[in-house]
Amino acid sequence: DSTTSRNAWDELPIRDELRGQSPYGAPQLDVPVRLNTNENPYPLPEALVERIAERVREAARDLNRYPDRDAVELRTELARYLTRTAGHEVTAAHVWAANGSNEVLQQLLQTFGGPRRTAIGFEPSYSMHALISRGTGTGWISGPRNDDFTIDVDAARTAIAEHRPEVVFITSPNNPTGTAVEADTVLALYDAAQAAGPSIVVVDEAYGEFSHQPSLLPLIEGRRNLVLSRTMSKAFGAAGLRLGYLAADPAVVDAVQLVRLPYHLSSITQATALAALEHTDTLLGYVAQLKSERDRLVAELRATGYEVTASDANFVQFGRFDDSHAVWRRILDKGVLVRDNGVPGWLRVTAGTPEENDAFLDAVRELKKEHD
Ligand code: PMP
Repeated sequence: DSTTSRNAWDELPIRDELRGQSPYGAPQLDVPVRLNTNENPYPLPEALVERIAERVREAARDLNRYPDRDAVELRTELARYLTRTAGHEVTAAHVWAANGSNEVLQQLLQTFGGPRRTAIGFEPSYSMHALISRGTGTGWISGPRNDDFTIDVDAARTAIAEHRPEVVFITSPNNPTGTAVEADTVLALYDAAQAAGPSIVVVDEAYGEFSHQPSLLPLIEGRRNLVLSRTMSKAFGAAGLRLGYLAADPAVVDAVQLVRLPYHLSSITQATALAALEHTDTLLGYVAQLKSERDRLVAELRATGYEVTASDANFVQFGRFDDSHAVWRRILDKGVLVRDNGVPGWLRVTAGTPEENDAFLDAVRELKKEHD
């Protein structure tokens, strides 16, 4: 229990806002079926592994030199990918990349948040938004959601008007609930944030490719303070690569140059990401499979008598439980690791391979029988 146990760093002169906090960490356990971290279950195809090896070998010949500090080739290819798949034309000037979208978010908070400034998110949502805010000295405001986990637009507008946060986080599809956010909601919050601010509105679309809805990318047109954040960790099946990116007005891309570390993206990372982008179509084929597995999980869980939150992501929130942690335990005892995100009454399962999902569904069906 982090509130009563002592931490190794308690005696160190750490910053006040870090005292009593816990580091981010999904418990990783050695069980047969791990459906707890929203990873893509499919390893990269062998042809892509070969292509990565080739491009990395080329990059290795120049490792005595610093990488391309502005990652121009990579940003150009990411822009092409977005233009092709997200319904809006962007160029390298609109795109910025970093080591995972977590680093993108950190750079945004270093640029637009910081001491005496605040950020707001609508919780439950991705817990790193609050943690990176605190890590950058930005005050955190927890905004509300409706009971069905959609954003309560009126309450959100009121909170924005009251607190006048410099940064507003909108996660679509939301983690851990899977809820996609309507474009109208983003526009309403953007307008509220500009009236109170102006402030930066970050749409975190880490799971965008899995959504039934089109990307919110087109909304950046004519809205200088709207930023879309994306990642190669989920749809590209490349969580180990650590490559995230943003799309926004070129002025935002220029502004984050003030805080990015020089040469933050290694030439190995840039080469690997470029190789993966060459195989976009194959990787999006896996995404299509995962989307249909996600829909199957939703349908089967409902048929078994669980409550399920509509999902546009590669995971599904299911419940309701009087004691969700006890249920998490019982599923684990059957060899399947899901995630207890601390949302009272609910658990989250990541869509895996059909076999992994079958194992999970068997486990929760058995659970229902034991309970009845
Ligand atoms: N945003 C959301 C909503 C996420 O769930 C995650 C990963 N769990 C991230 C951002 C960060 O992903 P990465 O740093 O791997 O790009």
